[in-house]
Amino acid sequence: MRISLSIILLISSIGATLPLQDKVWRPAPRKPEATRVLLVTGGHEHDVDFYSLFDDPGLRTIVDPHPAAFSGDIRRKHDVLVLYDMIRTLDETRRSNLRAFAESGKGIVVLHHAICANVDWPWWYEELLGGRYLFEPVGGKLSSYEHDRVQTITTVADHPVTRGIGTFRLIDETYHHLWISPAVKVLLRSDDPTSDGPVAWISPYARSRVVYIQLGHDRQATLNPRYRQLVHQAIAWAAGKSN
Ligand SMILES: [Zn+2]
Repeated sequence: MRISLSIILLISSIGATLPLQDKVWRPAPRKPEATRVLLVTGGHEHDVDFYSLFDDPGLRTIVDPHPAAFSGDIRRKHDVLVLYDMIRTLDETRRSNLRAFAESGKGIVVLHHAICANVDWPWWYEELLGGRYLFEPVGGKLSSYEHDRVQTITTVADHPVTRGIGTFRLIDETYHHLWISPAVKVLLRSDDPTSDGPVAWISPYARSRVVYIQLGHDRQATLNPRYRQLVHQAIAWAAGKSN
């Protein structure tokens, strides 16, 4: 018993002095020109697959939840803000940080249920986004949604966001009876009768590039190659990298 214990102690002391055989592992570096994205989620459940959209060598994405993301000045560290959050209200301090980002000329991509955020902030939905989900009736209209609709999405405007997108079939949620500003430039339309029709647009906001894409409820959309191309092109355009 005493001998075998000594052998064990000897082996372990030799093992402790052996050099490490493996190298320190590091992921491949992102492209130096990668767009710095601040992705804001929170307030609505979503598939984890959604995040794979941002696992791209051309993007350097940080995720911060609503409302913590807007607690400080977000202008310096990020080129584009991507919103996939759904909390109806923001306090004054966070509103002013978000507004300062927009007024600095940096781009904003608003995805899917994020049109249900900030619905009590007229500057946001009238001037910046050009659309609003109506939780309460306005002018006799009340917004609604329907899941898993098989639809045909058609490009209706020539724009860097929709270049090469054409027409494609998609299973996704539709929204109906949104308020949509007459000043938006509609990029895509759905043929589904439970949709308003416009499902992507450029907002009329002049101080920065703002695009809304209503598509993207779950992995049936977010893993669709055409949807992924659309979101990547929206981020590139919002960053001022395509014209
Ligand atoms: Zn949804």
